[in-house]
Amino acid sequence: MKTPTRLRVLLVTLLLCRGGVLYSDPPPAISLPLTGKIIVLDPGHAVKDESGKIINPGARARRFGAWERDVALGVALKVVPLLEAQGAKVYLTRTGSNPWRYNRMKRSDNRSRAIFANVVRANAYVRLHCDWNRSHKLHGFTSYYFRWGSRTLAKTIQRSVGRTWPGRDDGIQRRSFVSASAKMPAVLLEMGYLSNPKEGKELATDTHQTALAQVIAQGIVDYFKK
Ligand SMILES: [Zn+2]
Repeated sequence: MKTPTRLRVLLVTLLLCRGGVLYSDPPPAISLPLTGKIIVLDPGHAVKDESGKIINPGARARRFGAWERDVALGVALKVVPLLEAQGAKVYLTRTGSNPWRYNRMKRSDNRSRAIFANVVRANAYVRLHCDWNRSHKLHGFTSYYFRWGSRTLAKTIQRSVGRTWPGRDDGIQRRSFVSASAKMPAVLLEMGYLSNPKEGKELATDTHQTALAQVIAQGIVDYFKK
């Protein structure tokens, strides 16, 4: 019976020696710039009706190019992990497998998307779209806001995008179409013109969508760092 006793002593000793590790306090939580923040990203368009048909496809690049709805979703999906890595909880209004559905009880889809942001108590609501114009020449990106409380978020996102493409910065604009129903700072970013031959092609590429996602995420981080 000698050996088991020795073994027991050895095990108890080992446990006691490791006690500092076993019972120590959890490591202090690392505070990231977006810890505790809730962000809602809204890739515009692509509302589906009851039959699964898309009823507002958005704009399309010339010569049967990229659809706005696909560019918006592509960029939004790339923004999500970047914000999560900074500590945020991120919601999308739609994904490829979970579309935004048309509900005839609701007056407007854009209004109900803003209400979704209110329900999840978002700290920021960022809508992603692409511009279109009859003129091929127009190009660049614009951040729209409506409530005065959204102006700083619009400025910060626009500045972040503008740092990468300074020649295409069309500035910020105040417009009533930007989710008056949203209770938190809300911005609609037009990420470029699908009607412009160069931007239309570029917006469809994975490389450009990745670059856009990085500067949009950076703009959101900059806003909350202030
Ligand atoms: Zn749009």
